[in-house]
Amino acid sequence: MLALLGSGAAGSLAGCGGNGDGDSTPTATGSDSVPEEYRTATGLSGEQRDPDSLSSQGAVNYQSDPEDGKQCSGCSYYIPDKNGDGLGACTIVEGTIDPSGYCTSYVAHESETDDGDARSAVAVPDDARCAVCEMKAANFPEWNGQAVHADDTRAFFCTSGCATTYYAVTGQFAETDADVDGLWVRDLNSRDLIDGTAAYYALETDADRLDDPMRVNPAPFEARADAVAYVDEVESLTEDDIVELSAFDRALAEQYRGQLLE
Ligand code: SF4
Repeated sequence: MLALLGSGAAGSLAGCGGNGDGDSTPTATGSDSVPEEYRTATGLSGEQRDPDSLSSQGAVNYQSDPEDGKQCSGCSYYIPDKNGDGLGACTIVEGTIDPSGYCTSYVAHESETDDGDARSAVAVPDDARCAVCEMKAANFPEWNGQAVHADDTRAFFCTSGCATTYYAVTGQFAETDADVDGLWVRDLNSRDLIDGTAAYYALETDADRLDDPMRVNPAPFEARADAVAYVDEVESLTEDDIVELSAFDRALAEQYRGQLLE
């Protein structure tokens, strides 16, 4: 459902793995030890992984920590966790990849408009109603979110619970049939708008734990480590309760906004 378009830069670098200074030679590798589900998986930009044309981690100076706020989970080449171990992979670098890692081939993941402009969040209009619950989204500056469709239709939300419900049951709430092409939610710690398509969501179920609008919402985090820290503090939650946006389906929409579903 989420048609995220890759950047031109991503396309030009995929399969090369270079950082522009010639020190990251692609490798036809026999040491690429990733679980089978990653071998030919696609990254955030939609590029498919070619296991016969990967750079070694050393060649791109891969590290397990972020660099200046940039990390693999926000990179066009990143393949999100598929087996629940908290690690992902990369379409151009061999081996398992920590979402909090970084390398010199990093390319920020942004969806694009048809004419090549990067999709980005916009200021919430004062009169914009939440597309799911119809509360005024601008009244909740620490909780609100938004989405944009491929035809530039925008939708605004009061909270992450409405944003993820919109993603899961788009047909009921959207004013267009065009695909959702970008979605943003607020990091529970920083309250900054973050890329909801690359965020980690702790599946909070206690309506009293957070003093949030709509009473219960998944807790979004830009960094998986922050989501882990959150569930570690909550007796009823474990790391199994941390999901990515693609996990939101009708069942989770029922959990968070069942009273609003048809
Ligand atoms: S930053 Fe991470 S995801 Fe991006 S190319 Fe480097 S290893 Fe791959």
